Amino acid sequence: MQVDRAWDELATAEGIARRATWDISGKILGDDAAVVPDPGAALTICADALVQGIHFDLGYWTPAQIGAKAVTVNVSDLAAMAAQPLWVLSTIAAPKHFDVDRLLEGLEARAASYGARLIGGDLTRSETVVISVTAIGTQLLPPLRRSGALPGDAVFVTGPLGLASAALARLSAAMPIDERTRLALLDPNARLDEGFAASRAGARAAIDISDGFALDLHRLANASEVGFEITNLPVAEGATTQDALGGGEDFELLFTAPDPSRVAEEFAKLGIKPPLMIGTVLADREHRTLAGEALDPIGYRH
Ligand SMILES: [Mg+2]
Repeated sequence: MQVDRAWDELATAEGIARRATWDISGKILGDDAAVVPDPGAALTICADALVQGIHFDLGYWTPAQIGAKAVTVNVSDLAAMAAQPLWVLSTIAAPKHFDVDRLLEGLEARAASYGARLIGGDLTRSETVVISVTAIGTQLLPPLRRSGALPGDAVFVTGPLGLASAALARLSAAMPIDERTRLALLDPNARLDEGFAASRAGARAAIDISDGFALDLHRLANASEVGFEITNLPVAEGATTQDALGGGEDFELLFTAPDPSRVAEEFAKLGIKPPLMIGTVLADREHRTLAGEALDPIGYRH
């Protein structure tokens, strides 16, 4: 059994290290812990877990997609801070028949696409699949916090919303689904360049949309002690307004910035799609509206 052999090879932290884990000088690691060089700037660190039955269903997710998404959800948090990912650690719990090797392949390939490397982790037996990733980045640009928005800032989102939620609704009801919609849920990418461009453009606050636009916008507004007026909600083709408002998992960035022309300039410099300007930050923290109607903090609370 190939999977069993893979398990035996991987069934120690050292095994994960031996598989494909290198420090940045190219030396393979096989010690009890990874030793990494000081990158010369502040470190930005986050962790997030994906749990079978809560975040993914083995009926339509491949192990490689689960590994890739576990990296993406973390890198999305670093992107919201304008941090450059450097290293990831991964702890995996899985049943013996589960193809951990494929999961790690997906994880490493996606980490590499963001400029990061797997430097360690652990593997343990479990009845269901759980993967927890810690991502470590370096803060070469000013960090974007949730708390920095000021009245008068324009509110931006990096892309239309709701497609991941539309995909989940279709997959869980076994309805037909096109590839673009399916991959919005199963294989999303973090908006790393968008976070860098926003920071360079003088953005004052940011958050990634992981739990739903309305909920994440309220989180940013709460942290900044401000209100907002959203004039136009960008709904992805194939999604409903409800998907876009509360669906989550889009991993677009939501940010505020005082100078829209600087934002357009910095996004153009990186050759990425310009973000959509969707509203304004207000001083009155009680005023939180979408198209003139009160907007509740709807979203996915896990
Ligand atoms: Mg986040």
